[in-house]
Amino acid sequence: AQERYASIRDKKAITRDGSRVHLLMNAGLMADLPSLENSGAEGVGLFRTELQFLVRNQMPKRSELVALYQRVLDSAGGKRVVFRTLDIGSDKVLPYMKPTDEPNPALGWRAIRVGLDKPGVMRMQLQALIRAANGRPLSIMFPFVAQFEEFRDAKAEVDKTIERERRLGHALPSKLEVGAMLETPSLAFAPQKFFDEVEFLSIGGNDLKQFFFAADRENERVRRRYDTLNVSYLSFIAQIVERCEISGTPLSFCGEDAGRPIEAVCLAAMGLRILSMRPASVGPVKSLLMRVDLGELRKIITDARHRGDQTVRPAVMQYLREI
Ligand code: PEP
Ligand code: MG
Repeated sequence: AQERYASIRDKKAITRDGSRVHLLMNAGLMADLPSLENSGAEGVGLFRTELQFLVRNQMPKRSELVALYQRVLDSAGGKRVVFRTLDIGSDKVLPYMKPTDEPNPALGWRAIRVGLDKPGVMRMQLQALIRAANGRPLSIMFPFVAQFEEFRDAKAEVDKTIERERRLGHALPSKLEVGAMLETPSLAFAPQKFFDEVEFLSIGGNDLKQFFFAADRENERVRRRYDTLNVSYLSFIAQIVERCEISGTPLSFCGEDAGRPIEAVCLAAMGLRILSMRPASVGPVKSLLMRVDLGELRKIITDARHRGDQTVRPAVMQYLREI
């Protein structure tokens, strides 16, 4: 399959109607980094830092994290890497952390909630990221932000860490971007001020979809019941795009759906211009994007909505068969 897409690897993803879509890749381990070169991805839109914590049997030391993040940035060779801070808790339990017993782990004490309540590990991680950047640009993204204040508090931790590193005489990032994942519906309704303050947003569609439909992403029985191309869900995505356009906030989509070609072209039709996916999906997604007209697709989606269709999938499939 890699062969098949080799010819378009160095091409830009430009749709028939001239829209440029940036394709990034998701990563989490050092072993993923060579794919940055092979896949043709323009950068790492989501680096899941928890994987490094999950494969160990004790808490990594700060110096180990510095070395690791340094290697990640070195092998990215100047391409942008968005580091997502630790997304653990409840179901993703670290063997060396005290387990919590929660009735609904997905709705529980996880990700940024842990980071803000027990900031020790988050501070160590922020420090390690700044040291690893060592004067290079740095992008940090907080997972599972559900309200403005959580982002503000997390951002304040970054500012404090920067200040501490400055006093200690470490080189500061030449450019620092601090963003958030939009994976709870509540954040889409955050005050305008949030959209003005956050430097970039990334839709975590895996979580956003499970919370939008109240359907567990791990539960096969209910997971397949709700289509990503469901009209209500796509309108919700379009509303998020619109809010980001008003504030000029760069928005990407980094859930698994970004790597599914049909879903990806529909997300692009809803206005998304940055998609982050598993490396193997970059070729297939690019190939389909280059064949579609986003204006036509958008019209098909709007018409389906007006007809009262539940999902736009049949109409979109019909269009894709025709082109
Ligand atoms: C998501 O929720 O879409 C996401 C990218 O994060 P994760 O899958 O790691 O929860
Ligand atoms: Mg998530």
